[in-house]
Amino acid sequence: MNTKVLIIEDEPKTAQSLKQGLEDYHCEVVLAYEGYYGLRLAKEIKFDVIVTDVILPHINGIDICKELRASGVHTPIIILTALSNTDDVVTGFDAGADDYLTKPFEIKELIARIRALLKRTGLSPLPPNILKTRELEINLDRKTVYRSGQRIDLTPKEFSLLELLVRNKGRAVSKADIAGKVWDIDFDTGTNVIEVYVNYLRKKVDKGFDKKLIHTQFGMGYVFIDDEVEA
Ligand code: CA
Repeated sequence: MNTKVLIIEDEPKTAQSLKQGLEDYHCEVVLAYEGYYGLRLAKEIKFDVIVTDVILPHINGIDICKELRASGVHTPIIILTALSNTDDVVTGFDAGADDYLTKPFEIKELIARIRALLKRTGLSPLPPNILKTRELEINLDRKTVYRSGQRIDLTPKEFSLLELLVRNKGRAVSKADIAGKVWDIDFDTGTNVIEVYVNYLRKKVDKGFDKKLIHTQFGMGYVFIDDEVEA
């Protein structure tokens, strides 16, 4: 069963990226862009975790915690706060929050907090952290890759490259994106490191299989396709 998460966050971009990020980890996410709406949802629907911003229109995250606890809702709550507002943390705990995260943070951190919280409260843990396509199974915790049950050994860079392509499956990922996300460099440096690594990856992932998963889209970049309809 998927972990049900309520996100109360008024900044649409942040809310959407949190939703997307948590969905990548198999969570079922409901968004509320406003405090009262979030509060109502939290009372009406049984969530596994509530993630709330502090500064929200109409009612803030701290008061949401207080109100929920006062009305007997014991769902674990993580509050999101700006670095400059560490006072929020103390107030948040007083109000009944279980944990907090300081913005900006990476989705991985939030997932780790959710896992820890669910474990502590004895609720169902998140399913293993696995990215699956039709033929590939990528375990993001253990850093293992299987294709049709066969183990594929990758170096850390190859693993990151594959993860990036699979997360964008069906969409071309540009060399500039790969350079920035896998190597943390600008693509303008005139390196062919990306072609080289894509070739390494192809040798490991596609060699010996009829169906190729990693494709070149000329002028666009690389695309991972593991779906008969799109192939
Ligand atoms: Ca806010």
